[in-house]
Amino acid sequence: MTSNRLNNKQKWDVVVFGGGIAGLTASIYLAQEGKKVLLLEKGSKLGGRGNSTAIGNAQLNLGAHALYINCIEILNEVGVTVAGNPPKLSTSFIFGEQPDQMKVIEAFNLFVGNHLKWKEKMEFIHFYRQMKRLDLNELNHISLEEYLNKTVTSRHVKNMILAFTRVTTYTNNPSIMSAGVAIGQLRSAKVMYLNDGWQSIVNDLAKKAEQLGVDIKKRVVVSKVLGSYPTIQIILKDEQLIEANCLLSTINPHDFAKLMNEQIPQSFLNICNQMIPVKAACLDLVMTALPNPKINFAVGVEKPWYFSNHSTVAKLSTNPGEIVVHVMKYLNSAIESVPSDDERELECLLDFIQPGWRDYVISRRFLPKLIVSNDIKKPFNHLDYHLSNHQEVGIEGIYVAGDWLGEREVLLKASLTSAKNASKLINEKLAVQLI
Ligand SMILES: Cc1cc2nc3c(=O)[nH]c(=O)nc-3n(C[C@H](O)[C@H](O)[C@H](O)COP(=O)(O)OP(=O)(O)OC[C@H]3O[C@@H](n4cnc5c(N)ncnc54)[C@H](O)[C@@H]3O)c2cc1C
Repeated sequence: MTSNRLNNKQKWDVVVFGGGIAGLTASIYLAQEGKKVLLLEKGSKLGGRGNSTAIGNAQLNLGAHALYINCIEILNEVGVTVAGNPPKLSTSFIFGEQPDQMKVIEAFNLFVGNHLKWKEKMEFIHFYRQMKRLDLNELNHISLEEYLNKTVTSRHVKNMILAFTRVTTYTNNPSIMSAGVAIGQLRSAKVMYLNDGWQSIVNDLAKKAEQLGVDIKKRVVVSKVLGSYPTIQIILKDEQLIEANCLLSTINPHDFAKLMNEQIPQSFLNICNQMIPVKAACLDLVMTALPNPKINFAVGVEKPWYFSNHSTVAKLSTNPGEIVVHVMKYLNSAIESVPSDDERELECLLDFIQPGWRDYVISRRFLPKLIVSNDIKKPFNHLDYHLSNHQEVGIEGIYVAGDWLGEREVLLKASLTSAKNASKLINEKLAVQLI
């Protein structure tokens, strides 16, 4: 076992908090510019929400994870290539809320059959056509709900659009989320399911960081942060003291605010206080097959459900007789979710679209209330929103990155972009010091 004793004689250029994808990515950008970087992760494993768990022969992401193609550029810049495929899935829509009223309609049949009226079909097609021409800057000032109420008349069509925006943003709060963000995500909705899960990205990032000399320490608990550039003091739970010129935190901003204690600026606390996390309840399954192989991808129209067989295009098990299936409920922040009810609801969904599914299950895992993103991306006129576009917290030398930052990006793209921006700011700051 490697020692967790830190070299606290040396002063680091940068200490990075958090060994998730943002922390690892930032540490590579910094090390690529010759900075001495120490990365501290509190857990025993790297990857954070991007890690995957080996269950038997299969790799299970923490709930359904699809990599947006627009993340690849940054991953390539830090030396990571991704392996996987875009899902070639025909969408099945699940209409209705209770099993006795539920109906599954495949996307194609929706347009040839009579479930939707002619006017509704036209309205849906019109929405998709004009979506490409919309000015996202204007839409960033209103909520998705406001936008849909103004532009779409059919309840069915509205619900179908909401079903797609849930899939692309994971957010089930249309009255809070920015219309610009939601429509922007729909436009760039190209994704990949990754072979061996997202752990493959995490492993490559960690390898690259170590090759560049980043010192990665796991199971390290920080108890306090003091000072500012060029002397930031990080005090660990075991009372070791680490010194650095700069600090980059990629951990949950509320937790970071606690570590900064009374030093934290009020503007940063205001941002934290306005945050509304995006959450999901996930049922992850390893199965021998699907009892109803006709449905590989389904979304709820009236209910916030997701179902996808990720093994249709990604290699997720060393055993060709196993598939990985993710079932999920997008949680609404205004409704207190009860884990046992959510699990039962997802089981009922499976009973309906995949009758007899229990006989095919090799292993299962239910993860209630997972934090998908630390904040819903709200319209710009939201109080103080602009402050959250910056990677600086208001104390010289201290920076932040994570999915809650950025104007329009969501999910991993927001984490990666803010990690890149913060690293650039730190590299510039330290370059000035060297002159
Ligand atoms: C169910 C689910 C589905 C998702 N699906 C998608 C998807 O399809 N597409 C997409 O783009 N994104 C998706 N995401 C989001 C994606 O996983 C995250 O955006 C991304 O992994 C965030 O990376 P991060 O490094 O910013 O944060 P994290 O992964 O949260 O990393 C933070 C790290 O900091 C560590 N840490 C915390 N406190 C401390 C401390 N005090 N000291 C040291 N370390 C600490 C944590 O252990 C963790 O490793 C999904 C998330 C979930 C939960």
